Amino acid sequence: MRPVRFNIHPKEANISSAIATVDAPPGFGGEGFFTTKLSDVVGLARKNSLWPLPFATSCCGIEFMATMASHYDLARFGSERVGFSPRQCDLLMVMGTISKKMGPVLRQVYLQMAEPRWVLSVGACACSGGIFDTYSVLQGIDQVIPVDVYVPGCPPRPEAIIDGFMRIQDLVGQESVRRRNTDQYKALLSSYGIE
Ligand code: SF4
Repeated sequence: MRPVRFNIHPKEANISSAIATVDAPPGFGGEGFFTTKLSDVVGLARKNSLWPLPFATSCCGIEFMATMASHYDLARFGSERVGFSPRQCDLLMVMGTISKKMGPVLRQVYLQMAEPRWVLSVGACACSGGIFDTYSVLQGIDQVIPVDVYVPGCPPRPEAIIDGFMRIQDLVGQESVRRRNTDQYKALLSSYGIE
């Protein structure tokens, strides 16, 4: 019979090389000290602990399930905590066909999220209405909320979703802690009627 310990790391296994750690942000260091910018440290923490809120209405949501499952494992990016409470999440992932009726609901979910928040539009439907060029389908979620990254495809493969997620991580890591207070950002929100 196969020994049980065969299924777990043997005691002598060296897994230290298999544990990924993030690189330190750019800065200046010496013996016993390291200095960097506050924005870089905050960005480093934020980008590696994004909490996604999946807003999945149709087939693209199935790709998201695959992205979260063991093979692709979005948890590797610090995002295993998928939340369905807008107040606790900072990344809105919109996946699927959004009808015009659903538009106000999506917008309300976005408004309930605390700043800083980011939006990933996954799939042709969320980005542009996709093949549903009809009277009832929103022709892109950026008609009701600002979008940070678009992932094309119908549906996009999990690799594409992960790539879009990593582009969001880039934005989060480089964002200044003051960006949300800038006139430019306020103007962006006000163009969507958001105060
Ligand atoms: S983009 Fe394609 S796969 Fe995704 S929700 Fe639309 S029809 Fe479905």
